[in-house]
Amino acid sequence: MTPSVHGIHHVTAIAGDAQENLNFYVRVMGMRLVKKSINQDVPDTYHLFYADGVGTPGTDLTFFPWPEMGPAKLGTGLTVEVLFAIPKGSLSYWQERFEKEGVVFGKIETRFDEKTLPFKDPHGLPLALVEMDDERKFVPWKGSPVPTEYQLRGLNAVRLWERDLKPTEKLLTEVMGFEHLGTEEGWHRYGIEGGTSGKIIEIKELPEEQRGRWGTGSVHHVAWRMKDSDEEIALRNSIIEAGLKPTQQIDRFWFKSVYFREPGGALFELATDGPGFSLDEETEHLGEQLVLPPWLEPRRKEIEAALPSLEMPRLRA
Ligand code: ZN
Repeated sequence: MTPSVHGIHHVTAIAGDAQENLNFYVRVMGMRLVKKSINQDVPDTYHLFYADGVGTPGTDLTFFPWPEMGPAKLGTGLTVEVLFAIPKGSLSYWQERFEKEGVVFGKIETRFDEKTLPFKDPHGLPLALVEMDDERKFVPWKGSPVPTEYQLRGLNAVRLWERDLKPTEKLLTEVMGFEHLGTEEGWHRYGIEGGTSGKIIEIKELPEEQRGRWGTGSVHHVAWRMKDSDEEIALRNSIIEAGLKPTQQIDRFWFKSVYFREPGGALFELATDGPGFSLDEETEHLGEQLVLPPWLEPRRKEIEAALPSLEMPRLRA
């Protein structure tokens, strides 16, 4: 049987200034920096990973800070919003927090019967919080400035704009294992394994819209969970049979990855759940040091010299 994906593994986006990015996600969003590394393909760029207390797959939003890149151009073939799950009843806490911190946020919307608060990060990345009581694997971060009862439970869904819905829908439903769950205000919702929190993608078809372009404040790629390497290789084969061109499996050290463009142009990744972020750091010390995969360790001095300095924001005592 062809394997399916099992939900969102992580989302990677493009930020402006690295320090501003770190301050926002740790100090305002209360997420833990679980890994401070570099872009393995562009080693003079940080790769910052924010997640729950231990980096549970599906909780992780990561960034390449590329301030010189300029702002993204909203359009088709892009992931246009990243949604986090929060416990039911916690939206008013977040509204107050955003107010106090000067975060740009919108009105509470009801989408597919779910209370949703759209907002933006300091570099314009469109995000939203969704009240949700679905069972999720989540480990609170004790050092967070956000009390455990309000902390983000993980990535809930992603939203994409496409010029043509059908080819992407075909990939989702016939290759990746999604089913169509409903349509509301032009948004087509697809879910995997029942479509509970973290297992949702929504697509809007905009045939007149121009192609979007990467830049600061845009999503770079969405990674989908695979149980293990064998499953990932099998799904990679199905993706080839569907006429797409995935990369070879690449060892990202904390997981194994395959990248491909879905038919509308957005970049997807398949990523294995293991081995995970505790492979090279103790859970208590995640994110404290610059971590390099073993094959880049010999170049550490040179890599560190090329990176801007980055300080952990001060949290309440
Ligand atoms: Zn990735």
